[in-house]
Amino acid sequence: MDTAHSLTIAGAGIGGLSAALAASQAGWQVQLLEQAATLAEVGAGIQLGPNAWHCLRHWHLEAALREWAAFPTGIETRSARSHRLLARLPLGQDMERRYGAPYASIHRGDLHRLLLEQVQQHSDCRLRLGVRAHAFAIDGHRIAVQDEAQQTLAEADALLVADGVWSRLREQLLHDGPARPTGHCAYRGLIAQSALPASLRSQCVTAWMGQDMHAVLYPVRGGEWLNMVVIFALPEILPRLLTQSASGAAAQCWDMQAPQAQLEQLLHTACTPLQDLVQAISDHGTAHGGAPWRMWPLAGRPPVQHAGQMAQGRVALLGDAAHPMLPYLAQGAAMAIEDARQLQQSLTQPGLPDVPARLHHYAQHRWQRNARVQQQSRRNGRIFHLGGPVRLGRDLALTLAGPRLMDSPWLYGYGFVAHADATPA
Ligand code: FAD
Repeated sequence: MDTAHSLTIAGAGIGGLSAALAASQAGWQVQLLEQAATLAEVGAGIQLGPNAWHCLRHWHLEAALREWAAFPTGIETRSARSHRLLARLPLGQDMERRYGAPYASIHRGDLHRLLLEQVQQHSDCRLRLGVRAHAFAIDGHRIAVQDEAQQTLAEADALLVADGVWSRLREQLLHDGPARPTGHCAYRGLIAQSALPASLRSQCVTAWMGQDMHAVLYPVRGGEWLNMVVIFALPEILPRLLTQSASGAAAQCWDMQAPQAQLEQLLHTACTPLQDLVQAISDHGTAHGGAPWRMWPLAGRPPVQHAGQMAQGRVALLGDAAHPMLPYLAQGAAMAIEDARQLQQSLTQPGLPDVPARLHHYAQHRWQRNARVQQQSRRNGRIFHLGGPVRLGRDLALTLAGPRLMDSPWLYGYGFVAHADATPA
């Protein structure tokens, strides 16, 4: 291998931490720069397909994940209006055998903490909190990251940009401006199963599909809690909702308090179990003195068109900074994790002459899969949110051929993304 061995990573989210693990395991010295003064993920859940699990297993996280994750028994699709079951894709042992890893769901904070603990075991990996990467400057074979005052925060042989959807460093690299609002907005809440009546408890992933909206519910924390996400496609009224929101925060804020009444109003035509769940989360959160619902306006970018937009010279993009996607395939973090796994392989691949060749190798092996998953996520959202007569066609297809459709790229795309063949070995 060439002699260059140091990497700066901007951003210590799920993507940045995965990349830090991957690069440390490849023998590189890593410096992670994170703007937050303390490290914590937002209080929400995340579904982990077998493709992500394969990578995490490679980084020796499987035992810890089995302790903290939940393992949904199936994925159900239902009508948001009537609660009618349209289709059920069983998960569990059969799926685990088929894809070589389970389908899991986990609290984001737990996944983030497990990654961080693993990163901290590497003495070659240093984390600096409370520093904001603003720009980079290249000087020969070295690349410096600077803050707003142009002070150098870190210097290394390569820079990995993993600072999320609003990445400034990406803008400097690609000159493609900031991410754009998509007109979609996610509301999310958590509740202990013990706080719910038995009829509302669940150990599966349930997706209720309605016109211009859908809701997803799944277990986290070993199955003891439920995470709920309700997403609306509301390009016309979203700007008004955001100005009305309790915090009055700008659309760039990805985690703000959501006014409960607003959510309840948006769901006024939804089926009773859906409304009851939302109400239960609201009541439970309020009773415990917290803000039960958080709001997350979703921003996006079109997919990159070639590997050169994912890595240039000594700078490469990873995770949402490279390929922000709508969450309709539950694969954004999984793609960041897959990116990191590929990075590890490219950093250790024999025969590559230098750092730029390694980063180019990484980008070449990732950009197309990321772009496909970005497109499929958007398409899934359109299918989830159908209204009018086409909705009836979708529901009929799901009722007649549900599990097969949910496993195929034609609808839901579970098998499309989950297949081990699609994951770097
Ligand atoms: P981020 O999580 O955004 O992390 C970026 C980090 O960089 C943050 O810590 C931030 O503080 C830091 N940072 C930002 N700017 C700077 C700077 N200038 N300097 C230093 N640090 C900086 N994915 C799944 O796989 N499964 C799911 O079930 C799933 N569900 C989702 C549900 C919703 C509603 C949404 C919105 C997304 C979902 N995703 C899911 C996608 C997933 O959340 C993201 O793809 C993933 O978190 C991206 O990780 P990241 O590390 O690339 O970016």
